Amino acid sequence: MNILVSACLIGIGCRYDGKSKVHPDAMKLLEKYTVIPYCPEVYGGLPTPRKPSEIRNNRVLMEDGTDVTAQFAKGAKEALRLAKLYDCQFAVLKERSPSCGTGYIYDGTFTGRLTDDDGLTAKLLKAAGIKVIGESEIPNVL
Ligand code: SF4
Repeated sequence: MNILVSACLIGIGCRYDGKSKVHPDAMKLLEKYTVIPYCPEVYGGLPTPRKPSEIRNNRVLMEDGTDVTAQFAKGAKEALRLAKLYDCQFAVLKERSPSCGTGYIYDGTFTGRLTDDDGLTAKLLKAAGIKVIGESEIPNVL
């Protein structure tokens, strides 16, 4: 089975700060499944490192106010393209991210507060019928 996975969860340094966010459970996915690593912000055309972004009033804004909604939307579209190409019915995405977060994300104030919502990529994949979970839910599927 092919699974789309946030690349930062398996050690790729694609986060805004140029680092990864390796998660041991995500690494275990590599033993059982064919993992398709993906970073919507990079594929959307943003550089690494980059300023962090959050969603406010349906726009994605960097900390300095730069509007990066178009790049985030492109990254989401390409995620769906890749998921379809590889017939991924399932995606494991990094929690809280404005791209990858599922169920809850940072609230747009850059204060660490969370709000109930999905990141752009998680939202688009879900709308296409792909099951999306965050890294804390991996033990439920392993
Ligand atoms: Fe990780 Fe997703 Fe952020 Fe890329 S966009 S660094 S895959 S959380």
